[in-house]
Amino acid sequence: KKLGIALVGLGSYSTYQLAPALQDTQHCYLAGVVTGTPQKEKVWADKYNIPKANIYNYQNFDEIAKNDAIDVVYVVLPNSMHAEFCIRAAKAGKHVICEKPMAISVKECDAIINACKAAGVKLGMGYRLHSEPYTQQVKQFVKEKTFGDIKFVSAEAAYRSTGNPDQWRLNKKLSGGGALMNMGVYAVQSTIYGTGENPISVSAQEFSTRPEYFKNTDETIMAQLEFPSGAVANISTSHNFNANSMYVSGTNGWFQLQPANNYGPLSGKTSNGDIIEFPHESQQKLQMDDFAKHVLMGEPNKAPGEMGKRDMMIVEAIYTSIAKGGQKINLDLAPGFGFGG
Ligand code: NAD
Repeated sequence: KKLGIALVGLGSYSTYQLAPALQDTQHCYLAGVVTGTPQKEKVWADKYNIPKANIYNYQNFDEIAKNDAIDVVYVVLPNSMHAEFCIRAAKAGKHVICEKPMAISVKECDAIINACKAAGVKLGMGYRLHSEPYTQQVKQFVKEKTFGDIKFVSAEAAYRSTGNPDQWRLNKKLSGGGALMNMGVYAVQSTIYGTGENPISVSAQEFSTRPEYFKNTDETIMAQLEFPSGAVANISTSHNFNANSMYVSGTNGWFQLQPANNYGPLSGKTSNGDIIEFPHESQQKLQMDDFAKHVLMGEPNKAPGEMGKRDMMIVEAIYTSIAKGGQKINLDLAPGFGFGG
Protein backbone atom coordinates (compact mmCIF):
# COMPACT_ATOMS: atom_id res chain seq x y z
CA LYS A 1 0.00 0.00 0.00
CA LYS A 2 1.03 3.58 -0.73
CA LEU A 3 -0.06 6.21 1.78
CA GLY A 4 -2.19 9.07 0.47
CA ILE A 5 -0.73 12.45 1.44
CA ALA A 6 -2.69 15.72 1.46
CA LEU A 7 -0.64 18.91 1.29
CA VAL A 8 -2.05 21.82 3.30
CA GLY A 9 -0.93 25.16 1.88
CA LEU A 10 0.02 25.29 -1.79
CA GLY A 11 2.75 27.91 -1.67
CA SER A 12 6.21 27.66 -3.15
CA TYR A 13 7.48 24.73 -1.07
CA SER A 14 4.46 22.56 -1.89
CA THR A 15 4.42 23.67 -5.53
CA TYR A 16 8.09 23.40 -6.45
CA GLN A 17 9.43 20.76 -4.04
CA LEU A 18 6.88 18.54 -2.33
CA ALA A 19 4.38 17.90 -5.12
CA PRO A 20 7.09 17.09 -7.71
CA ALA A 21 8.86 14.85 -5.15
CA LEU A 22 5.58 13.01 -4.52
CA GLN A 23 5.61 11.92 -8.17
CA ASP A 24 8.68 9.79 -7.42
CA THR A 25 7.98 8.46 -3.94
CA GLN A 26 7.61 4.71 -3.49
CA HIS A 27 5.54 4.49 -0.32
CA CYS A 28 3.28 7.55 -0.56
CA TYR A 29 1.65 9.70 -3.21
CA LEU A 30 -0.10 13.03 -3.60
CA ALA A 31 -3.72 12.13 -2.89
CA GLY A 32 -5.24 15.47 -1.92
CA VAL A 33 -4.78 19.16 -1.24
CA VAL A 34 -6.08 21.72 1.23
CA THR A 35 -6.01 25.30 -0.02
CA GLY A 36 -7.43 28.67 0.94
CA THR A 37 -7.23 29.85 -2.67
CA PRO A 38 -10.19 28.55 -4.75
CA GLN A 39 -8.38 29.20 -8.08
CA LYS A 40 -5.70 26.69 -7.13
CA GLU A 41 -8.21 23.83 -6.81
CA LYS A 42 -8.65 23.24 -10.55
CA VAL A 43 -5.00 23.89 -11.36
CA TRP A 44 -3.86 21.20 -8.90
CA ALA A 45 -6.71 18.81 -9.77
CA ASP A 46 -5.76 18.96 -13.45
CA LYS A 47 -2.01 18.85 -12.99
CA TYR A 48 -1.95 15.99 -10.50
CA ASN A 49 -5.16 14.19 -11.32
CA ILE A 50 -6.65 14.81 -7.87
CA PRO A 51 -10.33 13.88 -7.49
CA LYS A 52 -12.66 16.66 -6.33
CA ALA A 53 -13.50 14.63 -3.22
CA ASN A 54 -9.88 14.98 -2.05
CA ILE A 55 -9.76 18.78 -2.29
CA TYR A 56 -10.50 20.79 0.84
CA ASN A 57 -10.39 24.39 1.99
CA TYR A 58 -9.51 25.70 5.46
CA GLN A 59 -13.20 25.71 6.51
CA ASN A 60 -14.26 22.20 5.45
CA PHE A 61 -10.84 20.65 6.20
CA ASP A 62 -12.13 18.71 9.24
CA GLU A 63 -14.33 16.60 6.94
CA ILE A 64 -11.10 14.95 5.81
CA ALA A 65 -11.74 12.62 8.79
CA LYS A 66 -14.25 10.76 6.60
CA ASN A 67 -11.88 10.38 3.66
CA ASP A 68 -10.07 7.04 3.62
CA ALA A 69 -7.95 8.09 0.64
CA ILE A 70 -6.01 10.47 2.87
CA ASP A 71 -3.66 8.87 5.40
CA VAL A 72 -1.25 11.73 6.07
CA VAL A 73 -1.75 15.48 6.30
CA TYR A 74 1.37 17.54 5.53
CA VAL A 75 1.15 21.09 6.93
CA VAL A 76 3.07 23.54 4.73
CA LEU A 77 1.58 26.83 5.92
CA PRO A 78 3.12 29.95 7.52
CA ASN A 79 4.64 29.00 10.89
CA SER A 80 1.91 30.48 13.08
CA MET A 81 -0.67 28.23 11.38
CA HIS A 82 1.20 24.94 11.93
CA ALA A 83 -0.26 24.23 15.36
CA GLU A 84 -3.89 24.77 14.38
CA PHE A 85 -3.72 22.60 11.27
CA CYS A 86 -1.57 19.85 12.80
CA ILE A 87 -4.03 19.58 15.69
CA ARG A 88 -7.06 19.57 13.39
CA ALA A 89 -5.37 16.88 11.27
CA ALA A 90 -4.67 14.74 14.33
CA LYS A 91 -8.26 15.13 15.52
CA ALA A 92 -9.36 13.97 12.07
CA GLY A 93 -7.35 10.79 12.72
CA LYS A 94 -4.65 11.52 10.14
CA HIS A 95 -0.91 11.09 10.57
CA VAL A 96 0.85 14.44 10.52
CA ILE A 97 3.95 15.89 8.92
CA CYS A 98 4.67 19.41 10.14
CA GLU A 99 6.99 21.81 8.33
CA LYS A 100 9.84 23.56 10.12
CA PRO A 101 9.93 25.44 12.41
CA MET A 102 7.42 23.23 14.21
CA ALA A 103 5.42 26.18 15.57
CA ILE A 104 6.04 29.61 17.02
CA SER A 105 6.40 28.53 20.68
CA VAL A 106 7.31 25.49 22.75
CA LYS A 107 3.78 25.60 24.14
CA GLU A 108 2.36 25.09 20.66
CA CYS A 109 4.82 22.24 20.02
CA ASP A 110 3.51 20.51 23.15
CA ALA A 111 -0.06 21.00 21.97
CA ILE A 112 0.74 19.35 18.62
CA ILE A 113 2.58 16.44 20.25
CA ASN A 114 -0.24 15.90 22.75
CA ALA A 115 -2.94 16.03 20.05
CA CYS A 116 -1.10 13.41 18.00
CA LYS A 117 -0.60 11.19 21.05
CA ALA A 118 -4.26 11.50 22.05
CA ALA A 119 -5.39 10.60 18.53
CA GLY A 120 -2.91 7.74 18.22
CA VAL A 121 -1.41 9.16 15.01
CA LYS A 122 2.24 9.50 14.00
CA LEU A 123 3.95 12.87 13.90
CA GLY A 124 6.99 13.74 11.83
CA MET A 125 8.82 16.97 11.09
CA GLY A 126 9.59 18.18 7.58
CA TYR A 127 13.32 18.02 8.40
CA ARG A 128 14.42 16.69 5.02
CA LEU A 129 18.14 16.58 5.90
CA HIS A 130 17.66 13.64 8.25
CA SER A 131 16.80 11.51 5.23
CA GLU A 132 19.66 12.57 2.97
CA PRO A 133 23.07 10.88 2.78
CA TYR A 134 25.45 13.76 3.64
CA THR A 135 23.74 14.29 6.97
CA GLN A 136 23.81 10.53 7.62
CA GLN A 137 27.54 10.64 6.91
CA VAL A 138 28.01 13.44 9.44
CA LYS A 139 26.13 11.44 12.06
CA GLN A 140 28.30 8.40 11.31
CA PHE A 141 31.59 10.35 11.55
CA VAL A 142 30.49 11.66 14.94
CA LYS A 143 29.28 8.29 16.21
CA GLU A 144 32.37 6.41 15.06
CA LYS A 145 34.71 9.21 16.18
CA THR A 146 36.34 9.18 12.73
CA PHE A 147 37.88 12.58 13.51
CA GLY A 148 38.28 11.98 17.23
CA ASP A 149 36.28 13.69 19.93
CA ILE A 150 34.34 16.65 18.55
CA LYS A 151 35.45 19.93 20.10
CA PHE A 152 33.94 22.61 17.87
CA VAL A 153 31.17 23.14 15.30
CA SER A 154 30.56 26.21 13.23
CA ALA A 155 27.21 26.31 11.41
CA GLU A 156 25.79 28.91 9.08
CA ALA A 157 22.28 29.03 7.63
CA ALA A 158 21.34 32.28 6.00
CA TYR A 159 20.18 34.01 2.85
CA ARG A 160 19.82 37.61 1.81
CA SER A 161 16.18 38.66 1.68
CA THR A 162 15.29 41.56 -0.60
CA GLY A 163 11.77 40.62 -1.73
CA ASN A 164 8.35 41.88 -0.74
CA PRO A 165 8.64 43.46 2.72
CA ASP A 166 5.06 42.38 3.43
CA GLN A 167 5.79 38.63 2.99
CA TRP A 168 4.73 36.46 5.94
CA ARG A 169 8.34 35.52 6.81
CA LEU A 170 8.96 39.17 7.76
CA ASN A 171 5.71 39.43 9.74
CA LYS A 172 6.24 38.24 13.30
CA LYS A 173 2.59 37.36 13.79
CA LEU A 174 2.78 34.78 10.99
CA SER A 175 6.43 33.72 11.25
CA GLY A 176 7.05 33.89 15.00
CA GLY A 177 10.40 35.51 14.24
CA GLY A 178 12.89 36.18 11.47
CA ALA A 179 16.09 34.49 10.38
CA LEU A 180 16.35 32.36 13.52
CA MET A 181 12.90 30.82 13.02
CA ASN A 182 13.35 30.35 9.30
CA MET A 183 16.99 29.34 8.79
CA GLY A 184 18.38 29.25 12.32
CA VAL A 185 16.84 25.88 13.01
CA TYR A 186 19.16 24.36 10.39
CA ALA A 187 22.22 25.84 12.09
CA VAL A 188 21.01 24.64 15.50
CA GLN A 189 20.46 21.17 14.05
CA SER A 190 23.96 21.14 12.49
CA THR A 191 25.49 21.71 15.94
CA ILE A 192 23.45 18.84 17.37
CA TYR A 193 24.21 16.21 14.76
CA GLY A 194 27.72 17.69 14.46
CA THR A 195 28.41 16.92 18.12
CA GLY A 196 25.92 14.10 18.71
CA GLU A 197 24.71 15.95 21.81
CA ASN A 198 22.05 18.37 22.96
CA PRO A 199 23.33 21.78 24.11
CA ILE A 200 23.44 22.74 27.78
CA SER A 201 23.58 26.50 27.27
CA VAL A 202 23.24 29.27 24.71
CA SER A 203 24.38 32.88 24.56
CA ALA A 204 23.26 35.02 21.63
CA GLN A 205 23.60 38.38 19.92
CA GLU A 206 21.35 40.13 17.41
CA PHE A 207 22.51 42.51 14.66
CA SER A 208 20.36 44.89 12.67
CA THR A 209 21.35 47.01 9.67
CA ARG A 210 18.08 47.34 7.74
CA PRO A 211 15.39 48.02 10.37
CA GLU A 212 13.16 49.66 7.75
CA TYR A 213 12.93 46.29 5.93
CA PHE A 214 13.03 43.95 8.93
CA LYS A 215 10.34 45.81 10.84
CA ASN A 216 9.56 43.25 13.53
CA THR A 217 11.65 40.17 12.76
CA ASP A 218 15.31 39.41 13.48
CA GLU A 219 17.77 40.12 10.67
CA THR A 220 20.96 38.45 11.91
CA ILE A 221 21.58 36.35 15.01
CA MET A 222 24.76 34.71 16.17
CA ALA A 223 24.84 32.34 19.10
CA GLN A 224 27.29 30.19 21.02
CA LEU A 225 26.30 26.81 22.38
CA GLU A 226 27.98 24.58 24.97
CA PHE A 227 27.61 20.80 25.04
CA PRO A 228 27.96 18.29 27.89
CA SER A 229 31.27 16.90 26.52
CA GLY A 230 32.81 20.36 26.55
CA ALA A 231 32.36 20.87 22.80
CA VAL A 232 31.36 24.38 21.80
CA ALA A 233 29.57 25.70 18.73
CA ASN A 234 29.03 28.98 17.00
CA ILE A 235 26.01 29.56 14.77
CA SER A 236 25.15 32.38 12.40
CA THR A 237 21.74 32.87 10.87
CA SER A 238 20.57 35.78 8.81
CA HIS A 239 18.13 37.21 6.32
CA ASN A 240 20.80 39.74 5.34
CA PHE A 241 23.64 37.59 3.93
CA ASN A 242 24.11 34.28 2.19
CA ALA A 243 25.81 31.45 4.09
CA ASN A 244 25.20 27.72 4.08
CA SER A 245 27.81 25.48 5.70
CA MET A 246 28.97 23.44 8.66
CA TYR A 247 32.48 22.79 9.89
CA VAL A 248 33.21 20.19 12.53
CA SER A 249 36.57 19.95 14.28
CA GLY A 250 37.65 16.92 16.30
CA THR A 251 40.83 15.90 18.09
CA ASN A 252 42.00 14.00 14.96
CA GLY A 253 40.86 16.24 12.13
CA TRP A 254 37.89 18.00 10.63
CA PHE A 255 35.12 17.71 8.07
CA GLN A 256 32.97 20.24 6.36
CA LEU A 257 29.77 20.47 4.33
CA GLN A 258 29.20 23.40 2.03
CA PRO A 259 26.41 23.72 1.16
CA ALA A 260 25.16 21.96 4.26
CA ASN A 261 21.43 22.52 4.32
CA ASN A 262 20.01 23.56 0.95
CA TYR A 263 18.06 21.23 -1.36
CA GLY A 264 21.32 19.78 -2.68
CA PRO A 265 23.38 18.47 -4.14
CA LEU A 266 25.33 19.08 -0.93
CA SER A 267 29.09 18.86 -0.98
CA GLY A 268 31.76 18.05 1.58
CA LYS A 269 35.40 17.38 2.33
CA THR A 270 37.57 16.17 5.18
CA SER A 271 41.01 16.82 6.64
CA ASN A 272 42.10 13.47 5.15
CA GLY A 273 41.76 15.01 1.71
CA ASP A 274 38.60 13.03 0.99
CA ILE A 275 35.67 14.47 -0.91
CA ILE A 276 32.28 13.57 0.54
CA GLU A 277 30.05 12.83 -2.42
CA PHE A 278 26.77 10.99 -2.93
CA PRO A 279 24.46 10.70 -5.94
CA HIS A 280 21.80 13.38 -5.80
CA GLU A 281 18.24 12.43 -5.00
CA SER A 282 15.33 14.65 -4.01
CA GLN A 283 15.62 15.16 -0.25
CA GLN A 284 11.88 15.65 -0.03
CA LYS A 285 11.25 12.33 -1.76
CA LEU A 286 13.55 10.53 0.68
CA GLN A 287 11.99 12.33 3.66
CA MET A 288 8.38 11.53 2.76
CA ASP A 289 9.23 7.91 1.97
CA ASP A 290 11.01 7.61 5.32
CA PHE A 291 7.92 8.89 7.11
CA ALA A 292 5.70 6.53 5.12
CA LYS A 293 7.96 3.61 6.06
CA HIS A 294 7.67 4.68 9.69
CA VAL A 295 3.87 4.56 9.44
CA LEU A 296 3.58 1.46 7.26
CA MET A 297 6.46 -0.70 8.45
CA GLY A 298 7.30 0.63 11.90
CA GLU A 299 10.70 1.88 10.76
CA PRO A 300 12.27 4.57 12.98
CA ASN A 301 10.87 8.10 12.89
CA LYS A 302 13.89 10.06 11.68
CA ALA A 303 12.47 13.47 12.67
CA PRO A 304 9.88 13.05 15.43
CA GLY A 305 7.80 15.86 16.95
CA GLU A 306 10.10 15.88 19.99
CA MET A 307 12.91 16.98 17.69
CA GLY A 308 10.86 19.95 16.51
CA LYS A 309 10.02 20.80 20.11
CA ARG A 310 13.64 20.50 21.24
CA ASP A 311 14.74 22.91 18.50
CA MET A 312 12.01 25.36 19.51
CA MET A 313 13.25 25.15 23.14
CA ILE A 314 16.71 26.16 21.88
CA VAL A 315 15.24 28.92 19.68
CA GLU A 316 13.32 30.32 22.66
CA ALA A 317 16.47 30.21 24.80
CA ILE A 318 18.36 32.14 22.09
CA TYR A 319 15.66 34.83 22.00
CA THR A 320 15.72 34.96 25.82
CA SER A 321 19.49 35.42 25.80
CA ILE A 322 19.18 38.31 23.35
CA ALA A 323 16.44 39.90 25.44
CA LYS A 324 18.78 39.67 28.44
CA GLY A 325 21.68 41.34 26.67
CA GLY A 326 23.49 38.15 25.69
CA GLN A 327 23.29 36.45 29.06
CA LYS A 328 24.06 32.73 29.08
CA ILE A 329 20.83 30.71 29.27
CA ASN A 330 21.03 27.16 30.57
CA LEU A 331 19.08 24.41 28.87
CA ASP A 332 17.88 21.27 30.52
CA LEU A 333 17.49 18.80 27.66
CA ALA A 334 17.82 15.13 28.47
CA PRO A 335 20.61 13.35 26.53
CA GLY A 336 19.14 12.07 23.30
CA PHE A 337 15.91 14.05 23.71
CA GLY A 338 14.64 14.81 20.23
CA PHE A 339 17.12 12.60 18.44
CA GLY A 340 15.42 10.75 15.62
CA GLY A 341 15.68 7.05 14.94
P1 NAD B 1 4.80 30.41 0.77
O1 NAD B 1 4.64 31.84 1.17
O2 NAD B 1 5.35 30.13 -0.57
O3 NAD B 1 3.41 29.65 0.88
C1 NAD B 1 2.58 29.81 2.00
C2 NAD B 1 1.21 29.25 1.68
O4 NAD B 1 0.36 29.49 2.79
C3 NAD B 1 0.55 29.93 0.46
O5 NAD B 1 -0.07 28.95 -0.31
C4 NAD B 1 -0.47 30.85 1.09
O6 NAD B 1 -1.59 31.04 0.28
C5 NAD B 1 -0.85 30.10 2.36
N1 NAD B 1 -1.36 30.98 3.40
C6 NAD B 1 -2.45 30.75 4.15
N2 NAD B 1 -2.68 31.74 5.00
C7 NAD B 1 -1.71 32.66 4.79
C8 NAD B 1 -1.44 33.91 5.37
N3 NAD B 1 -2.18 34.44 6.35
N4 NAD B 1 -0.36 34.58 4.91
C9 NAD B 1 0.43 34.08 3.96
N5 NAD B 1 0.21 32.88 3.37
C10 NAD B 1 -0.87 32.18 3.78
O7 NAD B 1 5.69 29.72 1.90
P2 NAD B 1 6.51 28.37 1.77
O8 NAD B 1 7.92 28.70 1.39
O9 NAD B 1 5.78 27.37 0.97
O10 NAD B 1 6.59 27.93 3.33
C11 NAD B 1 5.54 27.23 3.98
C12 NAD B 1 6.10 26.47 5.18
O11 NAD B 1 7.06 25.54 4.72
C13 NAD B 1 6.82 27.33 6.21
O12 NAD B 1 6.60 26.85 7.50
C14 NAD B 1 8.29 27.18 5.85
O13 NAD B 1 9.16 27.38 6.95
C15 NAD B 1 8.30 25.76 5.36
N6 NAD B 1 9.39 25.52 4.39
C16 NAD B 1 10.22 24.49 4.61
C17 NAD B 1 11.25 24.21 3.72
C18 NAD B 1 12.13 23.05 3.94
O14 NAD B 1 13.16 22.96 3.28
N7 NAD B 1 11.79 22.12 4.82
C19 NAD B 1 11.40 25.03 2.60
C20 NAD B 1 10.52 26.07 2.39
C21 NAD B 1 9.51 26.30 3.29
